[in-house]
Amino acid sequence: MADPVELVPHSAFDTILTLDFGSQYTHLVTRRLRELNVYSEMLPCTQKLADLDWKPVGIILSGGPYSVYEEGAPHVDPAYFELGVPILGICYGLQEIAYRSSTDNVVAGTSREYGHAIIKPKSFGGHVDSLFKDLGDEVKVWMSHGDKLAKAPEGYHTIAETGHSPFAGIAHETKPIYGIQFHPEVTHTENGTQILKNFAVDICGAKTNWSMGKFVDQEILRIRKLVGDKGQVLGAVSGGVDSTVAAKLMHQAIGDRFHAVLVNNGCMRLNECEQVHKTLSEHLGINLTVVDASKLFLDGLKGVTDPETKRKIIGGTFIDVFEAEALKIEKAAANSDKAGKIEFFLQGTLYPDVIESISFKGPSATIKTHHNVGGLPKRMTEGQGLKLIEPLRELFKDEVRQLGRELGISHELVMRHPFPGPGIAIRILGEVTPERVEIARQADHIFISMIREAGIYDDISQAFAGLDSNRAVGVMGDKRVYGYMIILRAVCSTDFMTADAYPFTNEFRKAVATKIINCVDGVTRCLFDETTKPPGTIELE
Ligand code: GLN
Repeated sequence: MADPVELVPHSAFDTILTLDFGSQYTHLVTRRLRELNVYSEMLPCTQKLADLDWKPVGIILSGGPYSVYEEGAPHVDPAYFELGVPILGICYGLQEIAYRSSTDNVVAGTSREYGHAIIKPKSFGGHVDSLFKDLGDEVKVWMSHGDKLAKAPEGYHTIAETGHSPFAGIAHETKPIYGIQFHPEVTHTENGTQILKNFAVDICGAKTNWSMGKFVDQEILRIRKLVGDKGQVLGAVSGGVDSTVAAKLMHQAIGDRFHAVLVNNGCMRLNECEQVHKTLSEHLGINLTVVDASKLFLDGLKGVTDPETKRKIIGGTFIDVFEAEALKIEKAAANSDKAGKIEFFLQGTLYPDVIESISFKGPSATIKTHHNVGGLPKRMTEGQGLKLIEPLRELFKDEVRQLGRELGISHELVMRHPFPGPGIAIRILGEVTPERVEIARQADHIFISMIREAGIYDDISQAFAGLDSNRAVGVMGDKRVYGYMIILRAVCSTDFMTADAYPFTNEFRKAVATKIINCVDGVTRCLFDETTKPPGTIELE
C-alpha cells in the first residue's frame, strides 16, 4: 500500500533534494538543512527525475569519491537542469556541473587539497552574489579534493577563489546554478550553515516550517490514514529509545490497536523487564504484553560458545516466540468487533539505516539488512504478508531523541545507551549459563549505577560490564578462590562507527572494581577495556 501521498513529508513541506554521490558527509547536508527548519531528503545520485513523484524546491549535488572524468563515474540525470529549480554542486557536484558543460573543464590537480583554506567571495551583483551573502570578505572553509576545475564553464562567473583553487566557487550568469569546491556541511567550514541557508531559504525560497512538533502531527495523521479505522499493528519493543519512541507514536495515533510485545530472552539487564513494563504500560499507556521466554532462550544457548551461533539462536527463538504471541493477539482481536486484522508490523528503522541501504557507494547501491529488536521477523513480514510501518525512517538518532521529548518520554529513557538485541549474551565470552548471566548482570548494574551517581552517564555513549571466558585466582578472606573476570567497557562516539574509550579517573576505576568484587559473588578481577573502535567493536562479540 502506498503512503497517503499528501501526507508524506516531501509533499507537505518545501523539500530540498540532495543527490548523493557517495561522500561521507552527504547526510550532514540533510541534517544541517533540517536544523534550519528546512525539510530535506537524500536520494542516490542515480535517481532519475522521471521516477520522482514529487517536486523539490532545490537540488544539491553532493561530494563523492570518484573523479568525474573517470570511466564508470556517476553522472546526474540531465533532466534536473531543465526542472527550473536552483541547483548547488558541492565538490564532486561542482565538478559535475563543470564537466557537463565541457569534459575538459575538470582535471586532476597537481596537489591534493585537504583541510582549511580561505576563500574570498567576489561580487558581480544580482543573484550571483546570493550564495555568499552575509559572509564577509574572507571565509574559512574546509576542502577535501584532488581534482579541480581547469577553467570556469562557459556562462559562469567565478565567485570565489583560494590560492590552490582559482575556481573555488562558480555561479551561472543568469540561472540559479552554483558550485563550490569546499564542504559547507562540515563544522570546520565557518558559516557553512549560512551558505546552506542562503541557498535553501533565499535562493530556493524554501519555507522554514519543518519542526519536530509538526512532524509528530503529520506522522500521526499519516499512520491513521495508512492503518484505517480498524487495522491493527504489532511491534516488538526492547525498552530502548527507538522502539519506545516508535511505540509511543503508534499509541498516540491508534491507541490500543497497537500491540507492543516485549520478549524476555533471559539476557536482559537487572530488573529490565519490570522497568520497561512500568514505563511503557503505566507511564506511557501503551498496550504491552510481556512474554517471559527466558528458559527457552537459555536452554537453547546451552553449550554454545560461537558468537554468530549465539546470535542466530537468539534471533530464531525470538521470531518463534514473537510469532506465537502474534497469533494469540490476532485470535483475541478476531473476537472483538472494534478491530480488524493485524496487517502491519512496526519497525524502528532510522534514517542512517535507510541511507546505508540506498546510498550510492560504488558501482551499485549497497543493500544492508536491518537488524532491529531481536532481528526482523522476515517470515512474518514476507510469509504472512504483514506490511512494514517505519515512522522513524526519516529521522536521525538525535532527532528521534527530540521526538521522544516532544512525546513526553522521560529524559532518562530518551538518553538511554543503546543495548543490543541479543543482550548480555554477546557480552559474555564463551558459554552463556544462567549463573554467568547473573554475574554479568549484577556487575553491569553496579557499573551503570556508579556512572549515573558520578553524573557522567550522558557523557558516555555506551557502557556495560562483560564477562571473560577465563578465570583468575584471588585470595578472599584468606581463602584461595578461582573466580570470574569482569570486563568493563565505556565508549564515547557520535555515530558508533568509530569510538574512543571514556577517560575515567583512577579513583572511579578503583571504586568500581572494589564494589563489584565485594558485591558480586564469584568475581575476583575487574579489567577495563581501553580499546578504540576500530579495531575493537563496541560489544565484545
Ligand atoms: N573525488 C573528487 C576529487 O578528489 C571529489 C572529492 C569530493 O567530492 N570531496 O576532487
